[in-house]
Amino acid sequence: MIIVMKRSASQEDIDTMIANVEGLGLKANVIQGTERTVIAAVGEERVAGISSLESGPGVDEVLPILAPYKLASRELKPESSTVTAGSLSVGNGTIGVMAGPCSVETSEQILACARAVKASGASALRGGAFKPRTSPYSFQGLKEDGLKMLAAARDETGLAIVTEVVSPDDVDLVSEYSDVLQIGARNMQNYRLLEAVGKSPRAVLLKRGPSATIDEFLLAAEYILDGGNLNVMLCERGVRTFESHTRFTLPLATVPYVQQRTHLPIVVDPSHGTGHTSLVTAMSKAAIAAGADGLIVEVHPNPDKAMSDGYQSMNFAQFEQMMTECRRIAEAVDRELGAMVAV
Ligand code: PEP
Ligand code: MN
Repeated sequence: MIIVMKRSASQEDIDTMIANVEGLGLKANVIQGTERTVIAAVGEERVAGISSLESGPGVDEVLPILAPYKLASRELKPESSTVTAGSLSVGNGTIGVMAGPCSVETSEQILACARAVKASGASALRGGAFKPRTSPYSFQGLKEDGLKMLAAARDETGLAIVTEVVSPDDVDLVSEYSDVLQIGARNMQNYRLLEAVGKSPRAVLLKRGPSATIDEFLLAAEYILDGGNLNVMLCERGVRTFESHTRFTLPLATVPYVQQRTHLPIVVDPSHGTGHTSLVTAMSKAAIAAGADGLIVEVHPNPDKAMSDGYQSMNFAQFEQMMTECRRIAEAVDRELGAMVAV
């Protein structure tokens, strides 16, 4: 439930209410709004004594949170959240663009990508060092060597690094080198991993599982928020349907639907969402028109030679052209295609 404090509530009132909430065995999360402070009391709500919260000092009203996800819900926080991580800003009218190869392959490859995507206006560099692959015989990523290459690319260009973490055991290692921890679609419901990134100081990009409902998606985000990490972006990357013309089916209605229910920013991945380079620009533009807060796009110096996902990767010229077209759509919907934020 949400405890809405009066405008006149003092810090002492807030502290007393936090103690009262915790005394009932619930977790207290304080959200400082522009207007007033609210305390989200999260946990098993059927505990006795909850009604006593209403008469606490400085309390205006106590409201239930109807959504199954509590901390992620707009009921709790009506204002949209902005996620910032190094040079990347997503939300609040700024569309953050994360671009780079599916996998980090060599230092030359990742540096060339970083320079090119930065020149075209991306605000972060993506690249997988730990790759979750369908086949155990496919390239699994360069692991720590790949993370070092990403960090070197950040040193040169200033671009924030977005990279995947596939195991709770690797969260500290990946956090050391990156700015945003990507939770891949295959791991959306790996609850121990979600709890582990919930404890990391890094921002998180949570990708939707290809068969997950939106409630399951938002409840997965709730695990991360519940762990204490509020810097979470959602990512629609396509779902599994009967359709086989595209690798996945990219449902853009997710964007406004999710924005009605959560304050968390939503990013779209048109590369995995379509599986075809030739479809990425159109779907990026459509995503921006639908209100997406960010894009994550695969870009490779030579897509024909890519070690993973070359068929959906853009070359540098294609990405440059995509960004030019996207900028015009962003302007038309009163948004800005984010440049790098100075750190
Ligand atoms: C990726 O971003 O390269 C990736 C593996 O994405 P997803 O988890 O959405 O399949
Ligand atoms: Mn990929």
